Amino acid sequence: MILRRVPNLTRSFTTKSVKGFTGAVGSTPLVRLEKISKRTGCEVFGKAEFQNPGGSVKDRAALGLVESAEKAGQLKPGGTVVEGTAGNTGIGLAHVCRAKGYKCVIYMPNTQSQEKIDLLRMLGADVRPVPAVAYENPKNYNHQAKEYAEATPNSVWTNQFDNTANAEYHYKTTGPEIWEQTGGKIDAFTCSTGTGGTLAGVAKFLREVSDGRVKNYLADPPGSVLHSYIQSGGKLVDRTGSSITEGIGQGRVTNNLGTEIQNLAGSLHIPDAKSIKMVYEMLDSEGIYIGASSALNVVAAEELALQLGPGKTVVTMLCDGAYRYQSRLFSRKWLRSKELEDAIPADLQKYIVL
Ligand code: PMP
Repeated sequence: MILRRVPNLTRSFTTKSVKGFTGAVGSTPLVRLEKISKRTGCEVFGKAEFQNPGGSVKDRAALGLVESAEKAGQLKPGGTVVEGTAGNTGIGLAHVCRAKGYKCVIYMPNTQSQEKIDLLRMLGADVRPVPAVAYENPKNYNHQAKEYAEATPNSVWTNQFDNTANAEYHYKTTGPEIWEQTGGKIDAFTCSTGTGGTLAGVAKFLREVSDGRVKNYLADPPGSVLHSYIQSGGKLVDRTGSSITEGIGQGRVTNNLGTEIQNLAGSLHIPDAKSIKMVYEMLDSEGIYIGASSALNVVAAEELALQLGPGKTVVTMLCDGAYRYQSRLFSRKWLRSKELEDAIPADLQKYIVL
């Protein structure tokens, strides 16, 4: 990227234009979180993935998965991309498919909101809601996506959880961007995991480029097994509880997490009350409107900064904006239903407008 300082302007900007939607994916700003840096005495940064053209970190995975299928010759012009997803990956894939001229078929559980189904259809995807049954059931949306792709010529099941093109894309882009943006002055990285693509890809890059100096940590919500997996030195325990943080939490070690999970320096378990409070704090004190998974990441980054001590640099991911969840996150009725109303401090209750 060409960065040039322009006289009379105080900030740098890129002078390069990019090619289409896919060219606009990545190269997101690294934002210094001012209040959190001040109160920890550290440099705490959030990577503004909500600035991706499809609105989330999953634009990267979507592009990585499609490009790798193209390179492998599995996808030719006019082909079809199939995925089982209820969230940001589907949105990213729908955009990438429109930009590249592929059909996009999305299988999702029929418990998902009409809003999500409508958005994907507006983005040109062929959405197929199927009964919400467990992974072990052959009718689960993931298996149906795989079967459809197997039965359809010139189509590919992108398989975001176990296709390592996902983590590789973060290894090639997100990791190097963070290294360059911090000038190599980074002590720790932390983020949560859905597929594990972001954490494993970034962690591997930072570990290798720094010869192991940068320490990487998982941030995990309730209902996920990974925190206890790391803490217990590799036991997969039953998952109990659930979380309001959509898109993260995992019941197994995916292929994308792979062996990188063994190289992590540790993990942090973040309860929902802290994550929802941080959604409001980030808005109130930083002016940044983020979803709950990003807020969980920021809580983890702050806790890590306090653990490591003053003068350290900690980086995390701001995965998406609150726009996709605002009818819940800013609704008193919903907060009450999750027993989280009291988690919002009195002076921040003014933001509960719904
Ligand atoms: N946050 C949000 C909002 C997401 O949609 C996802 C992806 N499911 C993640 C975090 C986690 O990213 P990854 O799949 O790379 O682990």
